[in-house]
Amino acid sequence: MIKAVNLCKSFSLDGFVVEALKGVSFVIEKGSYTALMGPSGSGKTTLMNIIGCLDTPTSGQYELNGRVISDLDEDQLSSIRNNEIGFIFQSFNLMPRNTVLENVCLPLYYRKISNPISSAIVALSRVGLDHRGGHYPNQISGGESQRVAIARAIVTEPSIILADEPTGNLDTATGDQIMGIFKELNELGATVLLVTHDQEIATHASRILQVRDGLLTG
Ligand code: ADP
Ligand code: MG
Repeated sequence: MIKAVNLCKSFSLDGFVVEALKGVSFVIEKGSYTALMGPSGSGKTTLMNIIGCLDTPTSGQYELNGRVISDLDEDQLSSIRNNEIGFIFQSFNLMPRNTVLENVCLPLYYRKISNPISSAIVALSRVGLDHRGGHYPNQISGGESQRVAIARAIVTEPSIILADEPTGNLDTATGDQIMGIFKELNELGATVLLVTHDQEIATHASRILQVRDGLLTG
């Protein structure tokens, strides 16, 4: 379960303070599927980064599976990231000099996994790309790159999948395919939280959270 209580986040930029989150509270149940929507600049990525333990709030409390996260140090945060969370970004973020298979293996190198390659192949099969393991990122399409990024995110079997505009760089048909994968992962038990601009895509979720100007509005 994800629980946020009065989360605030400010950034200092050139002497100005930007209040990206102004007191956001919500609960997301384990195994649910939630879409986060809102205009550009409303604080969606800031919120996802806090939920994904990539950043910490300026104030407020964040609790993940019964553990208070908001005051952990960087090592503790990275351990939670590696064990509980799969993060998928709009821009795929694959390592260009590594093969598809090596990219999917990367999170496993941080853990003591006895056979990383077989786990990576299983993850690639789940997104239908086990035949692309030897390719490099510049040899596959955008949709395939996002599927590799999903395989990399799920190879550690995280309980929570966070995706920040995962279909933003993809055409509609490819986006639909990616959404099908998220739906399947949710049906297998993962909690899915996804940022999207697209009303159509948000209908895949069972709940929609609206963010506007650093506040939840619905
Ligand atoms: P969204 O993802 O909804 O487009 P963001 O969470 O990226 O919005 O940004 C919310 C606000 O916080 C924006 O005004 C943005 O410029 C500001 N912001 C985000 N990250 C930083 C940062 N690292 N430094 C300064 N300002 C930031
Ligand atoms: Mg964003």
